Amino acid sequence: MAFPKVGKFAPVNLGHMRANGCRDLVVYCTSCHTSWTLNVGHLSDGTPIKSLGDRIACARCGRVAADIQPDWERG
Ligand SMILES: [Zn+2]
Repeated sequence: MAFPKVGKFAPVNLGHMRANGCRDLVVYCTSCHTSWTLNVGHLSDGTPIKSLGDRIACARCGRVAADIQPDWERG
């Protein structure tokens, strides 16, 4: 599998993300504007990133379906 070097694109699954040197995800709650890092080391490469946001509940307000993206800043 080859990936284009176009900078920070939106990976489809965890395998794509890891191939670009990113191991964790950042979850952002659009309801209470809390963000936190999510370690996904236990999940397989084939896990779609978008699917995770629908399953994670915010620890602060309890809202499910947060925005989720690779934690590029920490790499
Ligand atoms: Zn929240």
